[in-house]
Amino acid sequence: MQIIKTIEELRPILKEFRRQGLRVGLVPTMGYLHEGHKSLIVKAVSENDRVIVSDFVNPTQFGVNEDLSSYPRDIERDAALCEEAGAALIFHPEPEEMYFPDNCTFVDMDQLTKGLCGKTRPTHFRGVCTVVSKLFHIVMPDRAYFGQKDAQQLAVIRRMVRDLNFDITIVGCPIVREADGLAMSSRNTYLSPEERKAALILHKSLQIGEEMMRAGERDALKIKTAIQANMETEVLARVDYVEIVDADSLEQVTIIEKPVLTATAVYIGNTRLIDNFTYEP
Ligand code: AMP
Repeated sequence: MQIIKTIEELRPILKEFRRQGLRVGLVPTMGYLHEGHKSLIVKAVSENDRVIVSDFVNPTQFGVNEDLSSYPRDIERDAALCEEAGAALIFHPEPEEMYFPDNCTFVDMDQLTKGLCGKTRPTHFRGVCTVVSKLFHIVMPDRAYFGQKDAQQLAVIRRMVRDLNFDITIVGCPIVREADGLAMSSRNTYLSPEERKAALILHKSLQIGEEMMRAGERDALKIKTAIQANMETEVLARVDYVEIVDADSLEQVTIIEKPVLTATAVYIGNTRLIDNFTYEP
């Protein structure tokens, strides 16, 4: 698997792909890849002639007290997974390659980024929009693949692509879970065995909400309260938020009439985990 570390090396390769009329797919990741990432790469491979996986722990999307320095990294393992999934190459830059020391240009968004994860992570989506814009400019893919696991991120990227006229199709991919239901995440490696068991509370509690919706309940507050109450039965869990929002605008809803996103973030010990489901009445 070819691991490209500089923009200068990457550009001529991409130029040649385009000269040959090849369709290029991009899968942006922060590395420490698992089956969730792999599902994105496999889908991208099925829809494009060449797939680029970016593997970059992006400093600008981490807050000051977050886990930038401890975020797990293993490029050799990532390369093996990309090879198996059929990617053409990995773009694995150092932070200095992506950001000039005096970088002062950012991409930010007014709507969609204030609620949900944006409340606890006020600078997160500015970092995400900035790095994804940069990757889009560097790679200029036909399609880019994002997981529904990070539902707010997916909605934000779709909106950014619309607002800034990127000529790129955004493809959303379903959440891949462990056999017991825990959504796969690179951050799951932080969990102790006890915490790993406790982490199941996210999916289990969301399932309660989903069952209520399927049974015809339309009062968002009632559903949120039931989800929250179930989360609180787990002593190791500390809920950051449970929200039911419009799946497109991410605005809070009171009555469920249109497609909704039910999303949660929960601290299990020191590890902040997210999960969600979408429901169309
Ligand atoms: P990350 O490396 O965590 O930034 O994730 C890179 C991409 O993989 C994002 O688009 C995520 O939404 C997606 N992803 C991460 N975990 C999963 C999962 N369990 N299922 C599906 N997609 C995922």
